Amino acid sequence: MTADRHRDVIVVGAGPAGSAVACHLARSGLDVLLLEKSSFPREKVCGDGLTPRAVQELRTLGIDLDAPGWFPNKGIRLIADGRRLELDWPDAHGLTRTRADLDELLARQAVAAGATLRENTKVTAPLQTRGRVTGVETETATHEARLVIAADGASSRLSVALGLRPSATRPIGIAGRRYFRSPRHDEAHLEIWLDLAPAAYGWIFGMGDGTCNVGVALLRTDHPDYRGLLSRWLTTLPPAWGLTEHNATG
Ligand SMILES: Cc1cc2nc3c(=O)[nH]c(=O)nc-3n(C[C@H](O)[C@H](O)[C@H](O)COP(=O)(O)OP(=O)(O)OC[C@H]3O[C@@H](n4cnc5c(N)ncnc54)[C@H](O)[C@@H]3O)c2cc1C
Repeated sequence: MTADRHRDVIVVGAGPAGSAVACHLARSGLDVLLLEKSSFPREKVCGDGLTPRAVQELRTLGIDLDAPGWFPNKGIRLIADGRRLELDWPDAHGLTRTRADLDELLARQAVAAGATLRENTKVTAPLQTRGRVTGVETETATHEARLVIAADGASSRLSVALGLRPSATRPIGIAGRRYFRSPRHDEAHLEIWLDLAPAAYGWIFGMGDGTCNVGVALLRTDHPDYRGLLSRWLTTLPPAWGLTEHNATG
């Protein structure tokens, strides 16, 4: 095991949270190490929809939103009980972008701000001295810092290793998502279907590149049949939308 130099901050996980915090802290002059277990570009199951507040965060990070690859939306369309309601964002627009692209852009922005990014580097345990977190261990090295930030996602193994547990009073959601070639790829609204099943919803988000991101989310039960829910919902949608196995791209 090698020992890395002492850092100001270690950020575990280069998802949007980790890369954003690494970018801001590096920009303010701190020595930041960003550790990511996978390598970019990498997939992440997501709707790929960004609200205006997220768009504003991207601007603050200095991401070039005029570059190709971003697809704007002007609001959301809610569908339930045979009715539809379109709500436009007030004086702003949202965006869609695949997480494969978005997360890499954000990680590279953190690097441009001065953070050191190590991909393919899985944090295996926290280092602790007298009850205080002083760093982390990876498979091959130890890293110490004044501050360690666990940005390792919803299941945050690092937090669990430190004794934190998810709140029993908060439900866990699970989801399934696919991409389809579809003529609806350039819809101006993010579409959300609210009555697929109790405590479940579906979404159709145009990516502007010939494809739609389509998925369902539901609260976890003992037998969460999210695949069945997605398949059954898709069979009820107009064939002209093209959300069929033949057009599935991912
Ligand atoms: C089905 C679904 C649909 C969603 N749709 C939307 C949407 O349309 N719009 C929206 O804004 N949000 C959406 N979300 C929420 C969004 O995905 C999360 O809010 C977001 O990913 C959280 O970012 P994060 O950086 O905290 O964590 P993550 O994106 O999960 O990133 C965590 C990172 O940590 C890394 N990591 C984990 N463990 C380790 C380790 N031990 N060592 C090193 N690295 C590690 C992972 O590889 C990953 O890169 C959706 C979520 C789901 C599940």
